[in-house]
Amino acid sequence: MDRDFDYDVIIAGGGPAGASAAIHLAQGGARVLLAEQKKFPRAKLCGEFISPECTPHFERLGVAGQMFAAGPAKLTETVFYSRQGKSVSVPSAWFGANGVALGLSRAEMDERLLRRASAAGAEVLEDAHVVNLLLAKDRVEGVTIKQAGSEAGYRAPVTIDATGRTRALARRFAKSQNSTKSHRATLVAFKAHLLDARVAPGACEIYFYRGGYGGLSSIENGLSNLCFIASAPAVRECGPDAERVMRAVVCQNRRAAYALEQARACTPWLAVSLEGFGRHTVTPASGMLSIGDAASFIDPFTGSGMLMALESGELAAGVIGDHLPAIRLGAGLGDLEARYRAVYKTRFHSRLRVCSMIRRAAFVPGLAQMAIKVFGSSDHLRRRLSRATRGGTPETYCLSQRLNDGG
Ligand SMILES: Cc1cc2nc3c(=O)[nH]c(=O)nc-3n(C[C@H](O)[C@H](O)[C@H](O)COP(=O)(O)OP(=O)(O)OC[C@H]3O[C@@H](n4cnc5c(N)ncnc54)[C@H](O)[C@@H]3O)c2cc1C
Repeated sequence: MDRDFDYDVIIAGGGPAGASAAIHLAQGGARVLLAEQKKFPRAKLCGEFISPECTPHFERLGVAGQMFAAGPAKLTETVFYSRQGKSVSVPSAWFGANGVALGLSRAEMDERLLRRASAAGAEVLEDAHVVNLLLAKDRVEGVTIKQAGSEAGYRAPVTIDATGRTRALARRFAKSQNSTKSHRATLVAFKAHLLDARVAPGACEIYFYRGGYGGLSSIENGLSNLCFIASAPAVRECGPDAERVMRAVVCQNRRAAYALEQARACTPWLAVSLEGFGRHTVTPASGMLSIGDAASFIDPFTGSGMLMALESGELAAGVIGDHLPAIRLGAGLGDLEARYRAVYKTRFHSRLRVCSMIRRAAFVPGLAQMAIKVFGSSDHLRRRLSRATRGGTPETYCLSQRLNDGG
């Protein structure tokens, strides 16, 4: 390796994308530094629905046993409810070999992944905020990390932005080039763990209402997780009280009103504003790749953001691994970036395109109602559309097809 570099790869962000990349890279013999701004375990705003296709990822990452030992709820279907209470079900078996999704808090899931990254050989820093990029002309050659009040520079030929929707590194680079764009947040998301919610056992329930939608499902320890999106004006009308937003906005949905009637939050509410969904550039600068939400934010109603995070972490690690011998000799960075752009497009663009088409229905109650009616009438249509929101590997689809066909 170039003597001036401290690591082969530096990863900013220790969510599922960053941890997945770190584990795969470290298992492949790369020298990896992962910097996470928070101390884990930490709560995270998310629906906490872990889709069935994540299990093979957990197996490859060496954490499947630990995930199941955390006592997740087993979720066998997702049921979409129109405002008037009409419903349509999508069985988890359509998505993966084991046919079961998991309900597990992000505090538990993310911590297990981060500890595994450390055990696999990555150097993991927590409470470590990546505050800047080290640039050589326009090429990224590492980061500055602030930890315990002091700042230090760390150098690597490849830097990964795994900072989630904030895209902290990509934005930092754009700022250095005077090309930042600011988007107004039009949506606000909330989440809390609840006691006494009446969610059907084994179901992830999705409720549509004016201006947004929400998901309720069981997690570990007999709790439920409610996570919902509302329009910024509707939230402003309710004031800063999340429970009031839940009652006034989410409970416009008849099924939600029933399921949440007796429910009480047993954790503080988390809230974040959302700027939008969809793709960003996956190689925002020379020497830098983006993964997870920093690369593309897939619509939460698909329940597949964590899958894309794990998948894109693995994909980036594979491409970097292939190019590492050349990179260590100071060559091949352009090839690596071109290859990552190509494989990312092949793997993810089709599902992102499908989601952008059905996003409209998710935010317009009349359209959601119509979609639920149309797709409720045909298993075949529903299955095709559900699968189109996922890429899935041919082998998981084949296996799930065989299981569903009784083969
Ligand atoms: C309302 C809502 C509901 C959702 N529900 C689901 C669901 O049910 N199922 C599902 O699969 N997906 C869901 N998602 C999507 C899912 O949460 C994301 O796709 C997933 O968390 C992406 O993982 P990530 O690792 O890319 O980013 P994140 O999980 O956001 O992790 C990024 C990490 O980077 C750290 N970080 C940020 N900036 C810095 C910095 N400067 N320095 C160091 N560290 C930094 C953060 O602290 C964080 O730990 C939902 C999303 C939303 C908004």
